[in-house]
Amino acid sequence: MPSEIARALEARVEELKQRGGVCTLYAGVLENSYHSGRITLRPYMWRVGGRLASGQATPNGEMTLAREIDSLNVGLRTVDDVVWSMEHEAVHIALRVESTEWPREDGADSHVRACRRPRTDAEATRSTRGR
Ligand SMILES: [Zn+2]
Repeated sequence: MPSEIARALEARVEELKQRGGVCTLYAGVLENSYHSGRITLRPYMWRVGGRLASGQATPNGEMTLAREIDSLNVGLRTVDDVVWSMEHEAVHIALRVESTEWPREDGADSHVRACRRPRTDAEATRSTRGR
């Protein structure tokens, strides 16, 4: 895994662990997959049936992510896009969220979005008290 992605992933796992709840739950899956070398980055997206996939995961924590969209480089994914995909796949594993066909959102993204939303003051206070 390229070091800029590894660094972003490690930082993200730490943030997620501090948020508690679902965020901490899928951070554990992410960390586990990462430390056991089960995260594979492919250079480009790949075809699954009639659509292009940028991420795929199996319940044992194995995940495959696309670094870029295609070889013509019309759509370079940022480091953050790739980490988002990792989080998305980790939610699938941690919460057993079913995948649905693109373009319908399958629910995993709503958890990732919630865990990326800046914390409100009330939430920050709660988590400080909990320590
Ligand atoms: Zn999904």
